[in-house]
Amino acid sequence: MSAPIEHTSPVPSPAVLEPFGGGGGRAVMLGHVHPDADVLGTLLALGLALEGRGWNVAYGGPHPAPDLLAFLPGVDRYRRLDTLGGPLDVVVLTDCPNPLRTEGLIDQARRTAKVIVNIDHHPDNRRYGDVNWIDTSAAATGEMVYELLRALGVPLTPAIATNLFTAIHTDTGSFRYSNVTSRTFTIAAALVGAGARPEVVSESLYERRAPDALRWLGEALTRVEVSEDGRLGWLALPAGVVPERIVESEELVNYPRSVASVRVACLLRERDGTVKVSLRGKGDVDVQKIAAQFGGGGHVNAAGCTVPGPLPEATRQVLAAVRRAVDRSPSS
Ligand code: AMP
Ligand code: MN
Ligand code: MN
Repeated sequence: MSAPIEHTSPVPSPAVLEPFGGGGGRAVMLGHVHPDADVLGTLLALGLALEGRGWNVAYGGPHPAPDLLAFLPGVDRYRRLDTLGGPLDVVVLTDCPNPLRTEGLIDQARRTAKVIVNIDHHPDNRRYGDVNWIDTSAAATGEMVYELLRALGVPLTPAIATNLFTAIHTDTGSFRYSNVTSRTFTIAAALVGAGARPEVVSESLYERRAPDALRWLGEALTRVEVSEDGRLGWLALPAGVVPERIVESEELVNYPRSVASVRVACLLRERDGTVKVSLRGKGDVDVQKIAAQFGGGGHVNAAGCTVPGPLPEATRQVLAAVRRAVDRSPSS
């Protein structure tokens, strides 16, 4: 394609729809590192819809889908990829603000695909596609792909609806966060009408713990700390104290976030000599700006970065940056 296309409103423009027109072709739905429900649900929903129109679709990314999301319809098709194959008509990325989050697969896409479509709701999206549809008002890319399928006139099957409903469910913290709008509920209602089952999705996400999980959760929560002024909450987890499967399946950052006085919550997980940091705010501090200081990114109220270890030094540096941001914020 020639000049990159940029579109930013909630309903897709003809230029966004164009790559999905015609009589089908070969597409790859390309996921970001450590795929979550927003990226997987949207890639599967769009891919299944395209397959229904005769497209040949492959699904994958640099890491496999987590066990926790094994209930998503079609996720067994999602693979860890070393190569993309080709030639391809379209490569679609969803929920991926930075091309580096494909661990090099985007470079292959550039060589083998006619069009790269970038569909995302992150404010720091780098516009790396040939078509870039970036709607920062969407609570999840699940909302955007819903609008895309509607505009394409694709019938919503229960499998597609379940994938999109789960994408929206997780990115909104079960419809609780400030990114939720009336549009979120309108779309969720349509998805339930099309066969998504809220009780099945909630149970699959939150009530499938292993028998020993609560004991490990308790072990992790003993390490939650809150600053003297109450405004910073954090949890620093050294490697090995809690099994990785527990850390992966529990949104541990939500526990310090749940303390009333906490303005910014932080989870620091040590792994292979580096520390993965999750930051959460409550509207008065832009945590994306904090993550950006360490080369990361995200949203105003949910962001992340990876910093070098060891854990005590990483914790000191990240908390110092959080402290500066909290002290600058007028409302805190
Ligand atoms: P997490 O804390 O991993 O749930 O991520 C929260 C948000 O921050 C998501 O929107 C992620 O895309 C973003 N994020 C997390 N880690 C990074 C990173 N290392 N670089 C850029 N964005 C990140
Ligand atoms: Mn994601
Ligand atoms: Mn998302």
